[in-house]
Parts: sequence; C-alpha cells; structure tokens
Amino acid sequence: MVGDWILAIAWGVTMGVKKPTEEEYRDFFRKLDRKRFLPEAIKGAAHLDAPLIIGHGQTISQPTLVLEMTMLLDMYEGCKVLEIGTGSGYQTAFLAQFADEVYTVEVYEEFSRNAETVLTEMGYDNVHYLVGNGSEGWPEHAPYERIMVTAAAGKMPDKLIEQLAPWGRMVLPYGPPSVQELLVITKDEHGNIHQKTHELVRFVEFVGEYGWHES
Ligand code: SAH
Repeated sequence: MVGDWILAIAWGVTMGVKKPTEEEYRDFFRKLDRKRFLPEAIKGAAHLDAPLIIGHGQTISQPTLVLEMTMLLDMYEGCKVLEIGTGSGYQTAFLAQFADEVYTVEVYEEFSRNAETVLTEMGYDNVHYLVGNGSEGWPEHAPYERIMVTAAAGKMPDKLIEQLAPWGRMVLPYGPPSVQELLVITKDEHGNIHQKTHELVRFVEFVGEYGWHES
C-alpha cells in the first residue's frame, strides 16, 4: 500500500519530462527535406553539410550543427521554446517537432513569412511568428523553458535570460565576429545562471544591442 503511494508519487514527479531519444532526433534529421527551406536558386545545394546564403546577407545553418544545437537544447514534451532568428525556418522545424509551443522572432519580414508558409504546409500549427528585434525576446509569452538563439551575440542578452524559466536552458553562440563559443546557459531554481562552453562556431550577427556593433 505504502509502496503503491511511493510509486505513484515517483511517477507524478517524473511525468512531464518525457524527452526525445537521440534516435528520434536523428530520424527526424534524416527525413527533413532541407530543400523546402531554401530559395529556388540554391535548392540544388541542399544536400551539402554547410551553411548557405538565403538572402539579406543571412545564412541557413549547417544541418549537422542544427541537429547538435537541437540536442543541446534538451527539449521535453510540453516545453515552450523561444527562438531568436527564424531565418529559413529549418531550425524552427526541429523545435516545432519536439516542443509543445514555439515562439520565433525574426528581423526580416520576408524570412518570417517564408518560414511560416513552409512550416504550415508541413502541418506545424504550434509555431507563432513575430517580425521584430529579438533583443527584446517575446515578453508576452515568457517565461520559456528553452531559448534557442541562432545569431551570434557579442554581449550577454540579459533580457532573454530574464525570460528564461527556472530550470530553463538557453543555447547561444557568444563571442566576436571571427569565432564564437556555443554556450549552454542554465538557470537554476533560485534564478542563478550557469554557463558551459560546448564548442566553437561561427554565426551571423545578432542584430541590435547584443550584437557586435550597437545599431
Ligand atoms: N536558424 C536559421 C537562421 C540562422 S541565420 C536557419 O537555420 O535558417 C540568423 C538569423 O537571425 C537571420 O535570419 C537573421 O536575420 C536573424 N536575426 C539576427 N539578429 C536578430 C534579432 N536581433 N532579432 C531577430 N532575428 C535576428
């Protein structure tokens, strides 16, 4: 009897943190057609494991890096994610697949509209799109259990960290134009911040106050 109670409590505590397996991530990655996210002229290069120019001096990230960043974000069933830098929507697809709700912010309206068209065609109705400066995050829907930043910040984006929930986790390319650290930033239950460098990467600039140049 007491044993049943303990079991029930243990189950209650662990439920709600069901996470995708590595195989599920890899399977989704293999099946996701990158061509859909590319402008007509470069669809032929979709199979390359390299970043590609999508216009406005911006790039769609390298596929294996997108997979890696997705796994680092460590999503779980029911989590709410904020993404800064919708771009082509390729990274957004991973978030939409494994999170409950995705809030994605992009400075270029054209990118946001294209991503919305592709992801809606694919059947994702859990993505919310905002055209604007992601330096502000998306306060109306905060806090977020996970935040994915896909442009490089030169300064710590404190307004985004504020929007991170306790126990939350953010993946952020952080550093100067030449090379950045891919940081995993976590917030504990007291609101303290911890950070760990995962590897070195190279991203386009996070436009605005957290960028390399104040604009
Ligand atoms: N992850 C995307 C794009 C990466 S490129 C993909 O895989 O396609 C980075 C994107 O961030 C670009 O589209 C750029 O316009 C956008 N961006 C840069 N600074 C931003 C900001 N402050 N707010 C919102 N979007 C921003």
